[in-house]
Amino acid sequence: MKQFKRKLYQQSCYIWAEFKSLSLLLSPRFYFSDKTKPLTVFALLFVVFQSFAQNDGYIASKMIQANKEIEILEKVVVGEFSKTPIVIAPVVIPEKDYIAENWITTRFNPYENTLLEYPFKLTFKDSVFASPILRKKVVTSHFGWRRGRAHKGIDIDLYTGDKVLAMMGGKVRYVKWHYGHGNIVVIRHYNGLETVYAHLSKQLVQVNDSVKKGQIIGKGGISGNARGSHLHLEVRFQGTCINPEYLFDFGPENKIRASEIWVNKKWSQAYTQNSRRQADIYICHTLEEAQTMATPEITYHIIKRGDTLSSISHKYQVSIPNLCKSNHITTKTMLRVGQKIAIH
Ligand SMILES: [Zn+2]
Repeated sequence: MKQFKRKLYQQSCYIWAEFKSLSLLLSPRFYFSDKTKPLTVFALLFVVFQSFAQNDGYIASKMIQANKEIEILEKVVVGEFSKTPIVIAPVVIPEKDYIAENWITTRFNPYENTLLEYPFKLTFKDSVFASPILRKKVVTSHFGWRRGRAHKGIDIDLYTGDKVLAMMGGKVRYVKWHYGHGNIVVIRHYNGLETVYAHLSKQLVQVNDSVKKGQIIGKGGISGNARGSHLHLEVRFQGTCINPEYLFDFGPENKIRASEIWVNKKWSQAYTQNSRRQADIYICHTLEEAQTMATPEITYHIIKRGDTLSSISHKYQVSIPNLCKSNHITTKTMLRVGQKIAIH
């Protein structure tokens, strides 16, 4: 019994001692006494350092993972799908300086030796042009075959003294009197087109002047070979006349027919069109369309003494009605020596 009591006493002493040491550990005084303070500070610093080290390790491991993902991505995009590196850079094609090229102010056509290759593309930055006259435009004669000769522009009715305006912005290249055209102003535009304003009574610009769209450049009249006062308007590209109505709609809205227009030979050949009516306009927006629409080559016969429609028909194996149709003549039309007859 005594032994049991002693054991019980010993056990209770242990429990008490443990309880005391536990309460000591829980007491703040234990950590911040003079003896334990340095140890506590060291322990705290160690804990803080450890947590930072763990964080650094976490970030470092994430970075390694991200780099690996980038490497994989590069392999997939550049290596697997495309053998050549992908270069995405804007392609800048410098615009051709049409104003500087063949800039001769003393000759009506400075492109005499230039051969145009068909089809070719014209580009327009604007969607509208300025009407060359301030009144309602009435086209009295179109681009085409007229009285046995080529009429290479359109005639717009006006009164002598009416203001004539530049259809688009550009630079004045030629201001003179020119045979047949009378007093003319030729403006070269930034897309290479030239507009010719003929039969003027007054020229109000000088060569090398920059002109804005809609700027007054002269006054209409009857100078040169004109039957009555009108504006003879030509549109030329590198010396070749193009039917102005193919590019510009001379209706009330002054629309440029498209921002990109392909021109094939037909639109520069007056022989294939009739000056009495507007040609059927079908705009070619692409090279393929222009090639599809291209008409076969046309040959011409110059009338010699003794030629008749029947002899021409026999020579070229083309029927007389076809000859009449393509030349806008009838079987009763008198053929003149030197007259050109289109064969197609
Ligand atoms: Zn004319």
